[in-house]
Amino acid sequence: MPNLTKVESVLSSFAILMRQSIMLLTALLTSLGAATGGLAQSAVDDAGAGSPGPAVLYTGARLLTAAGPESDVEFEIENAAMLVEDGRIAALGPVGGISVPAGTTTVSLAGKTIMPAMIDAHAHLGYEGYTSWGAGNYSRKNLADHLDHYSYYGFSAVFSAGSDPHQLALSIQQDQQQGSLGGARFLFAAGMAPPGQGPNDRFLEQALAIEARTGMTVLTGLADTEQAVAAAEAVAGEGIPFIKIWVDDRGGSQEKLAPGIYRPLLGAARRLGLRVFVHQQYASDMPDLLEAGVNGFLHGRLGADLDRRLADRIAAAGAFVVPNLGLGELRFEPVADDPFLQETLPPAVVARLRDAFSQRRVTPPGPGQELQLRESMGHLLAAGVEILLGTDAGAVPDHFFGYTGHRELEIFVRLGMSPRQAIIAATRSPAQRLGLDDLGTLEVGKQADFIVLDANPLDDIRNTRSISLVFQGGRSLDRQALAEHWRAAGPAAP
Ligand SMILES: [Zn+2]
Repeated sequence: MPNLTKVESVLSSFAILMRQSIMLLTALLTSLGAATGGLAQSAVDDAGAGSPGPAVLYTGARLLTAAGPESDVEFEIENAAMLVEDGRIAALGPVGGISVPAGTTTVSLAGKTIMPAMIDAHAHLGYEGYTSWGAGNYSRKNLADHLDHYSYYGFSAVFSAGSDPHQLALSIQQDQQQGSLGGARFLFAAGMAPPGQGPNDRFLEQALAIEARTGMTVLTGLADTEQAVAAAEAVAGEGIPFIKIWVDDRGGSQEKLAPGIYRPLLGAARRLGLRVFVHQQYASDMPDLLEAGVNGFLHGRLGADLDRRLADRIAAAGAFVVPNLGLGELRFEPVADDPFLQETLPPAVVARLRDAFSQRRVTPPGPGQELQLRESMGHLLAAGVEILLGTDAGAVPDHFFGYTGHRELEIFVRLGMSPRQAIIAATRSPAQRLGLDDLGTLEVGKQADFIVLDANPLDDIRNTRSISLVFQGGRSLDRQALAEHWRAAGPAAP
């Protein structure tokens, strides 16, 4: 519902802001008019610098609001107008259909498509270093860089799934709330598993190394019921709203978190208002986890075992599924040849990736597996299971941030989703599931986090790549400066 009080208070300060912003707006208009294809983003940034920003009306674009059926806004509005004020959406509708304060700056985006910025509901930030991967890379600076990568690729938020040192992660959230740190909004879960276990063996070693180095908690070991309940209470006390559990024996190298422990954990989490997401090894683990009350699955385990019956159970329980397919799939592809990825990598890293790919013995999955995946996706869709975009980016080396999100959407559509469903999976659904009430759709009162695309992703989901501009809190991101910074990074360390 529109937040009228908010909008009115924003409007009342409009006149003052306009006077202060005349010169900046002139610069904005000049730059926008001068370059329709590649807008002069630094000028836009200047115009948006400081807070609150000036009011701008974006007109003429196709608006994909991603709004749900309960909203008073259509999912798609042709020839739309969207008023952005004070970093938020103050009004939207067809051109001529909304009232705009006198003197508002108008920016034509005719021919473009605007959609909400996306959200990656499963990633692991901090470990990737582009020339190396591991605990040694984990730092505030590196994490901020990963958040910038997400912004660059049109993401407004990312959920890091159980692999971050709590105190550092909390301080990063605080910095973002206070505006001293930019990038996509950082969310994270407290990771829990049997003591000394959790992520895959290689990842586990690195997570434990961060604990040893920083003295902070990354993984919480649960040996019995009492520890499970105490851990949930501790996390609630820290102000972390999410728990990630691993239910996986890693092919025998680890101990699988037992129902006798995750059930009381889930009971305590429910009581405390925490959401619990699970990494489960097999589809056969899902029914009991549903019964125990998990909020969602961070791996779909699509395939023969995820049949219609199980899909119906997931839907009935109201749990979501992150199919997480690109992690297994993209290694069969020479992604280093993709210009969309090259935009954000130094040439030396591109060369390293090419080299690694040429030396890899790859046997892509056959048509049988593709058919199973398609059928399984079909069951989830037919049952009405809520599907979320999630990539597991950063969990292994060279599965990069942001880029992999676009690729995941492509896989979704290949397996039978409509582009519209894929867009919802990337925007509205993860926002709701992650408690991001002000993100995920373009509606009045929401934060103005959106992407301006050259082509319509409803025609071809690959058009999410055709990013012209990314806005965060109403400000245009200087993507060109970021790309130049990343490409100019020195040669890869030996
Ligand atoms: Zn993961």
